[in-house]
Amino acid sequence: MNSIVTFPNRIPVEEFEERRFQVYTDRQLDKIEAIQQLPEETRFEMRVVASVLPFRVNEYVINELINWDQVPNDPIYQLVFPQKGMLKDEHYERMANLHREGAEKADIQAAAKEIRDELNPHPAGQMEMNMPTLNGEVLDGIQHKYRETMLFFPAQGQTCHSYCTFCFRWAQFVGDKDLKMSSTDAARMHGYLKEHTEITDLLVTGGDPMVMKTKNLVQYLEPLLEPEFDHVQTIRIGTKALTFWPYRFVTDKDADDLIELFARLVDAGKHVAIMAHYNHWQEISTDIAEAAIRRIRSTGAEIRAQGPLIKHVNDDADAWAKLWKKEVKLGIIPYYIFVERDTGAKNYFEVPLAEAYNIYREAIKQVSGLARTARGPSMSAGPGKVEVQGITEISGEKVFVLRFLQGRNPDWVQRPFFAKYSETATWLHELEPAFGEEKFFFEDEYEQMRQGNG
Ligand SMILES: *Cc1c(COP(=O)(O)O)cnc(C)c1O
Repeated sequence: MNSIVTFPNRIPVEEFEERRFQVYTDRQLDKIEAIQQLPEETRFEMRVVASVLPFRVNEYVINELINWDQVPNDPIYQLVFPQKGMLKDEHYERMANLHREGAEKADIQAAAKEIRDELNPHPAGQMEMNMPTLNGEVLDGIQHKYRETMLFFPAQGQTCHSYCTFCFRWAQFVGDKDLKMSSTDAARMHGYLKEHTEITDLLVTGGDPMVMKTKNLVQYLEPLLEPEFDHVQTIRIGTKALTFWPYRFVTDKDADDLIELFARLVDAGKHVAIMAHYNHWQEISTDIAEAAIRRIRSTGAEIRAQGPLIKHVNDDADAWAKLWKKEVKLGIIPYYIFVERDTGAKNYFEVPLAEAYNIYREAIKQVSGLARTARGPSMSAGPGKVEVQGITEISGEKVFVLRFLQGRNPDWVQRPFFAKYSETATWLHELEPAFGEEKFFFEDEYEQMRQGNG
């Protein structure tokens, strides 16, 4: 018997009212009161963009997280509401004309599909290269790209409490069924994990697994306490619910069951890591957001924070420093800062690598060592996660210093390599090797992996 005080004693009791979850999609844009105050032209632009890119926002985000006096420059407004610049001019004009003419729904949808297909809906070989098999059968809803970590996309968790305008998985939220990655089969997920004892980390992701009912989550996670899963030491859950719906952890009907599940997993010896997606300190500006964090941490689960660096939202060193300080104060561990991927509304959100690195450095300079656990800015590209480690001059040539934080071949990790400096490059494929080399060291091997389909 262990003497550790267990649930429910260590869960602080908080006095919060239950809140009804009320959500708006593109069809209900006009029902959002706050939006009605905006100029008609702005609302038209939103309708146009929302017919191409996913839109979904809930009442809590609208009323508690957005500072409407700052609109359109408010970071959370930019994070959830469609803006004209998110579509290229030609795409915008095409769609706007259809709306002006009062075109049929079917015509709007057909045009939307064509536009989406031009927006690189599956960045970094998501569909072709990361498909694992079990008994010769391709497993939907599972990705296994890096040796230690398996990604699992439970079918019931493939939506979110609100959508981020810059989401790199935007394609799975816009109708076309064949774009979705999902799995209904817990047994196959468990089967794959059983066979792959090199996997130490299961990352449950989406969408947002926290939109699932606790009872579903229990079905996936509870069996991992059996001895045949001893190699799975960490259960990570990727979520933005701490921002978009912190009530999930505090007052929702099955919030207590969820907290109890975390506590049970921790007590049984698993490391439970909530991988929170944060972009801006304003997301942690409400009492309920802090209460959710305290409640999760009281179970022994850790919260790690990651998120992309995005123009119009957080391309600002002071905002990052403030976010990291707030995270550390609340016991959250800063983890990754990502470069916005080359997909969707990238042209609106992209920040050149050089600028992203400078923002990162200026922010890191302002915080204590405990907040300097944030690594990046990092590109989740086909070959792996590539971090911009610095900008320097070597033998008279200005270069980026790069390294893999994760690689398709684990042996690529941590080797410094160099690219010609560029003011404008925003992604790995725009970089050229420095010092007159023809290729980066990993390119031939990566090409072979692509030919061999994985
Ligand atoms: C980032 C990532 C992981 C996890 O990598 P860590 O560095 O261990 O956090 C796993 N799989 C994929 C596909 C990823 O992009």
